[in-house]
Amino acid sequence: MFVVALTGGIGSGKSTVTRLFAQLGVPVIDADEISHELTAPGQPVLNEIRAAFGDDVFEHNGSLNRARLRERVFGNVNDRRRLEGLLHPAIHAEILSRLAATDAVYAILSIPLLVESRHDYPHDRVLVIDCPDDIRLARVMERDGLTREAIQRIMAQQALRNERLKLADDILDNSGDLATLQARVTELHRLYQQLARARNPG
Ligand code: ADP
Repeated sequence: MFVVALTGGIGSGKSTVTRLFAQLGVPVIDADEISHELTAPGQPVLNEIRAAFGDDVFEHNGSLNRARLRERVFGNVNDRRRLEGLLHPAIHAEILSRLAATDAVYAILSIPLLVESRHDYPHDRVLVIDCPDDIRLARVMERDGLTREAIQRIMAQQALRNERLKLADDILDNSGDLATLQARVTELHRLYQQLARARNPG
């Protein structure tokens, strides 16, 4: 299986781009989605999170209070590492099993925190969605209704734009309109099909 890791900062357009690839029939495995599923009510990792972070980060009905947990690990490197240590092995295992179950020519693996993540995700190529900070800010303000300061705080936690770009095999500039984005995705789709077929002829 040829795997394209897709990454980018908040508001760069990851969800939009993965949707476009999915519309072309490409299987998309999304680390954030998996993380969400693994912390849904009843999942075993919740017990470990409770043991590490206490009842504080839970609702009365036992579901995870994601906002409070995020708040807690924000700006606290030790807490953040601890949480990652609990979540990443499970996310990693789930990603591997989904990749193994995929029989397409290639798959997209969306890993928002590829740069920051110390774990090694299998991939053959890195696609970075890139967009200047001011456009990302404006788009996220519009999408989430967050304040400029709140978004800047999230951006400051994430890898810097040039650290991300250093990892890139392909860069998708999403500062233009959606039609331009769509055209570039179609172009990349052809490239990835070719690369995957060259790797696995027949
Ligand atoms: P991410 O998943 O990286 O946080 P999204 O794909 O959600 O980013 O994009 C952020 C916001 O910007 C969304 O509301 C999306 O609809 C919008 N958006 C993304 N790309 C474009 C574009 N090229 N033109 C206009 N709006 C866009």
